[in-house]
Amino acid sequence: KSKEDGRGRHTFFVQEIDERVRRRRDIETELRSALALRQIELHYQPLLDAASMRIGGFEALMRWRHPRLGMVSPAEFIPIAEESGIIRDLGAWAMREACREAAAWTDEAYVAVNVSAVQLSDPQFRSLVVEALAKAGLPSKRLELEITESSLVEEASKTTSIMRDIGATGVGFALDDFGTGWSSLSMLHAFPFTRIKVDRSFVNDLDAGRGAEQIVRAVMLLAKAFSMKVTAEGVETRRQLAFLEEVGVDVIQGWLVGRPVTAREVPAILALHNKALAAVA
Ligand code: C2E
Ligand code: MG
Ligand code: MG
Ligand code: MG
Repeated sequence: KSKEDGRGRHTFFVQEIDERVRRRRDIETELRSALALRQIELHYQPLLDAASMRIGGFEALMRWRHPRLGMVSPAEFIPIAEESGIIRDLGAWAMREACREAAAWTDEAYVAVNVSAVQLSDPQFRSLVVEALAKAGLPSKRLELEITESSLVEEASKTTSIMRDIGATGVGFALDDFGTGWSSLSMLHAFPFTRIKVDRSFVNDLDAGRGAEQIVRAVMLLAKAFSMKVTAEGVETRRQLAFLEEVGVDVIQGWLVGRPVTAREVPAILALHNKALAAVA
């Protein structure tokens, strides 16, 4: 009897793996034609400057609308795009699209574009960035590239030199999801980052009183020592905001400020928010 139970569980486990493999393959296949079929869009989430309370920029976040699969989360398709190499085309498209759109924004708002480590080690990446900026007519200081901490390999000298080349043109680099990797500290001096983005999990824990406050304070000191700015992501409550302002976080991002919106909605958000502020000032 117990043997049968064991076999039953085993079969179930195999089926589950089978399903996952099939879903992965399905996504990879569909992803290959997603760009050509115009299923990929960029949505934009506001970045609030804590000192001025103005919206200083937006983070571009990829969205995939598929007729059969529905909305597929980037958390699911980006890793598959990275492993299969599709990220090259997706990433290049996102870079051009984000620069083109941001060039039309008022208030010198900047755009933050997520970049995979795979893209960064590509020798063509620098010219992709330079050409996207030139074609859009977007000043380099209005572009920031976000790289997830856990994806960086320490002392990848090719990556560091590509980053330095691009950084020299005035483009900023943000270390995304800071605190979730296992070599956080060494990343700060190994790569030329201009900003740290405190991972959402720490912001979330601010309400739980589990030492997250001390961690954020320590990040502020680190950023100061390295002359970097700090963004807090995933800010959902007024209490979190109050603490982050108190310790001097530069930029606030999260549902409290605003959810990601379509490109069409960005100009109105900038106009309404920043003009309303100017009116009270
Ligand atoms: P990320 O770069 O850390 O982006 C922040 C994520 O947190 C976004 O998820 C955003 O929608 C979500 N978020 C923002 N504020 C809040 C909040 O207050 N509460 C909660 N619960 N979530 C919040 P999203 O859009 O699903 O993207 C997931 C990840 O996929 C991104 O994390 C990024 O690593 C990756 N990604 C998205 N677009 C691109 C892209 O164009 N290229 C690359 N390489 N990666 C991308
Ligand atoms: Mg990001
Ligand atoms: Mg992030
Ligand atoms: Mg994140």
